[in-house]
Amino acid sequence: MFCKVILKFTKGSLKNQEYAYYQQTCVTVGRQDDCTIVIPETDTSVSRNHCRLTIDPPEVTVRDLESTNGTFLNGKLIGRRQKTDGTEEIDIQTPTDFAMKPGDRLGLGKNCEIELILVVQCAECFSDICQPEHYNEKEEPICDDCFQDFFFASYLPNEISKLKT
Ligand SMILES: [Zn+2]
Repeated sequence: MFCKVILKFTKGSLKNQEYAYYQQTCVTVGRQDDCTIVIPETDTSVSRNHCRLTIDPPEVTVRDLESTNGTFLNGKLIGRRQKTDGTEEIDIQTPTDFAMKPGDRLGLGKNCEIELILVVQCAECFSDICQPEHYNEKEEPICDDCFQDFFFASYLPNEISKLKT
């Protein structure tokens, strides 16, 4: 099945930039030169190695790489470097991978944000669907138009056959 994962920056120096992935891959994000996506130095709240996304379209998981200012999934802190002065209020266990859904927003510190966009092909008409919402009986994504057809075909077969004759 055709499937494309897009990481779209919605805040920060890279705002409106999009990175598209079609295959299984690992993406590191940070200000260090050897990151897969290098964040400009002007985004000072992003760490040198901030977080890592494991992409296996349509699945995406994210893990914080002990960033200074934290990684946030839809505003919820999912990881950051432990403070050593004992002032830490939130107890974050060993680094964990968090699953991301289409439309989720990933915050790197306070001023950099990435939106996860999923583009798949409709199983019926092969048109591109951005952020699929409907699925057929085989759990394949279908577009709004095909969903309407599918709905009528499933629930109103007699009405449809009347229309066709
Ligand atoms: Zn369709």
